[in-house]
Amino acid sequence: MMGQKIINKLCIIGVGLIGGSLARALKKADAVDEVVGAGRDVTHLEKAKALGVIDTFETDITLAVKGCDMVVVAVPLGAMQFIFEKISAVITDDMVITDVGSAKGSVVHAAQSAFKTLPKTFVPGHPIAGTEKSGVEASFSELYENRRIIITPLETSSGNAVSKVKSMWQACGADVVETSIEHHDEVLAATSHLPHMLAFSLVDTLAKMDSKNEIFDFAAGGFRDFTRIASSDPDMWRDICLANGDALVAMIKKFSDDLQLLSKAIENNDSAYLEKTFSRAKKARDEFCEDKK
Ligand code: NAP
Repeated sequence: MMGQKIINKLCIIGVGLIGGSLARALKKADAVDEVVGAGRDVTHLEKAKALGVIDTFETDITLAVKGCDMVVVAVPLGAMQFIFEKISAVITDDMVITDVGSAKGSVVHAAQSAFKTLPKTFVPGHPIAGTEKSGVEASFSELYENRRIIITPLETSSGNAVSKVKSMWQACGADVVETSIEHHDEVLAATSHLPHMLAFSLVDTLAKMDSKNEIFDFAAGGFRDFTRIASSDPDMWRDICLANGDALVAMIKKFSDDLQLLSKAIENNDSAYLEKTFSRAKKARDEFCEDKK
């Protein structure tokens, strides 16, 4: 039996890991009639079509969104404003617009600058799902299953647009939660952006050492687990740092202070401090893993 179509014509602007996985998931759920892909590079779009992720494509954004009832902007954060400016010329009242950007304050700022008056159909969003890989080849339909999607509806967002964005993600098997932009950006700075800084910074520190070959030779599974996210796309992470700078710098400061305390405790042979810190961390992580089961 055919599933209920949530979307007639979907435009994914940026058919990479996140946009491509969304298109795949909606097709698998039979929740969309037609998917148009948009991007800069025809070879990427041809690949997406050959993989069955999109049905047609356009490199002209204004043509790509024509007649679409859902537009998902899945480009790097630094390209959001440019895309919104393109869409603003052709937007219609029945075209729901959402994004997947990893920081939300900067996206809303970009939308405000581009649209001038924020459209009622604009609902910012962010899937809390991903991998360290990029591009449409890395996309897969199960990426959002049992994962959280955060949406940050604006005062201007209409109830219908919010419902449609929620239904779209729910069709992918995701759990949709609503929060404020500020809360989103603070929480993500702590849980995603700071860990990426630690992974990038650790690997970079080691890579700059004279004995780096020996160090990487001796590195085992723990190092691989901890540093997996340092294989993420550098351009994407440059944009995230710049987009969520205030919240991220505050978290880096907090973490640096705690790391300094740990260093002092080691210097002072303060075994009680070390035990207490590690036990508290182990308990918190064990509880987190238990909750996620
Ligand atoms: P990706 O795999 O590199 O895909 C990005 C896509 O955007 C590419 O298909 C690229 O295609 C297109 N693009 C880049 N610049 C563009 C521009 N100026 N105009 C039109 N298209 C452009 O990246 P991704 O991991 O899917 O990330 C996309 C968004 O999702 C980012 O905003 C990121 O913050 C967010 N996000 C990522 C993750 C994650 O784990 N990766 C998780 C949650 C949210 P062309 O090169 O052909 O133009």
